[in-house]
Amino acid sequence: MDGPLPSLCMTNMSVPVNQGGTQARIPIYPRSVKGRFRRLKWAILVIAYGTYFMLPWLQWERSGAASQALLFDITSRRFYLFDLVVHPSEIFWLAGFLVIAALLLFFVTGIAGRVFCGYFCFQTLWTDVFIKIERLVQGERPARIRLDKSGWTADKLFKKGLTHVLWLSVALLTGITFVLYWGYAPELVVQLFTGQAPFAAYATTLFLTATTYVMAGLAREQVCTYMCPYARFQSAMFDKDTLIVAYDRQRGESQLGRNKLVKGLKQQQQRHQAGYGDCVDCGFCVQVCPTGIDIRDGLQIQCISCALCIDACDNIMDSLGWPRGLIKYDSERHQEGSKPRLFKAKNIGYAVTLLLATVLLVWSVITSSTLDVAVQQVRQPLYVVLSDGQIQNSYMLKLNNKQKVPLSLDISVQGLDDAVLDLGRVRHIEIGADQSLQVRLRVRMPRDTGQTQIPFAFVIDADGVEQPLSVPAFFSMPR
Ligand code: SF4
Ligand code: SF4
Repeated sequence: MDGPLPSLCMTNMSVPVNQGGTQARIPIYPRSVKGRFRRLKWAILVIAYGTYFMLPWLQWERSGAASQALLFDITSRRFYLFDLVVHPSEIFWLAGFLVIAALLLFFVTGIAGRVFCGYFCFQTLWTDVFIKIERLVQGERPARIRLDKSGWTADKLFKKGLTHVLWLSVALLTGITFVLYWGYAPELVVQLFTGQAPFAAYATTLFLTATTYVMAGLAREQVCTYMCPYARFQSAMFDKDTLIVAYDRQRGESQLGRNKLVKGLKQQQQRHQAGYGDCVDCGFCVQVCPTGIDIRDGLQIQCISCALCIDACDNIMDSLGWPRGLIKYDSERHQEGSKPRLFKAKNIGYAVTLLLATVLLVWSVITSSTLDVAVQQVRQPLYVVLSDGQIQNSYMLKLNNKQKVPLSLDISVQGLDDAVLDLGRVRHIEIGADQSLQVRLRVRMPRDTGQTQIPFAFVIDADGVEQPLSVPAFFSMPR
């Protein structure tokens, strides 16, 4: 095989540009294709859509809060995730989750390239459905091209109109579903359709509907090529061992290049003897590509690694009875004849960091306190001299019961000799399941001329809390 190896290095990725720096858009009419990767993509899509659209309706019994499995309750400032309740003080879990997601993305991209783009990205999933709708209404690729080139007839108006109505319906459903995560879905959906929902719910629905319609229906591949930052910085994560969708140029072109299945070149052997490769230049791989590129020109930045061109070419090879794999997932190193190296410092580093971050987050969730306590000294006045000469300090005690059962609390003072704790009219502190409470505490003790700030601790004991909580505070004395 004499042909040069294709360069798969991401530094050779190219976006054809005009002088203005952007490419004039060429309409893309992706053709449908059957195959193992297409089936895999449909399966992922069904799971993703099923999860997204059904999750707000999944009920999950919990006391003192809406029984919705996943609920971002802004009013009570709680995030309910099945049995886990996330409070504002635990918002760092979200940061931890985002770090883990980013590390996972880096790790997977380093090994398997842009599989996230091709299989899991919202843009890809929603664009797939929009293209499916377009195909169902307007027909396969040739019919859609003909329709676009034809004049405006009643048939064209109907087909185009129906396509946009269906796109808008999916976009609206997407927007409404997103909003249902932020309130109790069975009630919020009724409020939405009876004009009683909050303004923010309508604004969010409208925004999501518009962006889904524009991104998945109108902009499509332009989002991946020009708007998504991930496409730009992925080259930093690619190396010679990264799996990419690659055309086997040596096999496809041989010495004289590709050629159609013309007379005398219909058998593989005839072609090889004549110096032609296995690519029969059918163009099927280009026609199925959702970003409209020709993978035979080498890896390009527009490629989202969806593998539909692999399915297309495999179908052609199968029909000819030739081996599959003219287009396949491969690495540059493997194409050069060496074994890809997966266990290298970069991948191991990502894997270890990912594992550590995951363990840390899980540990933080499992060991999180079931009772949040904060004490703030009342500073105006800092102290009061009582008629019997004793000094009194006041404190605001903020309690947050994160358990699903009510708590009964005992509070005492530790570290102040002869101090008396006064809970006012409250005899016993009870706090409901998943409730917050503020209590004013007063501490009295004889005057001490030695110090102006005496450290001590409030000790809070509760049923269901393993160890009494000790909260440090200061007692202020007059000078
Ligand atoms: S070139 Fe192939 S893998 Fe890349 S976007 Fe097009 S069809 Fe998908
Ligand atoms: S589908 Fe395969 S045979 Fe057809 S043009 Fe593409 S690479 Fe060549």
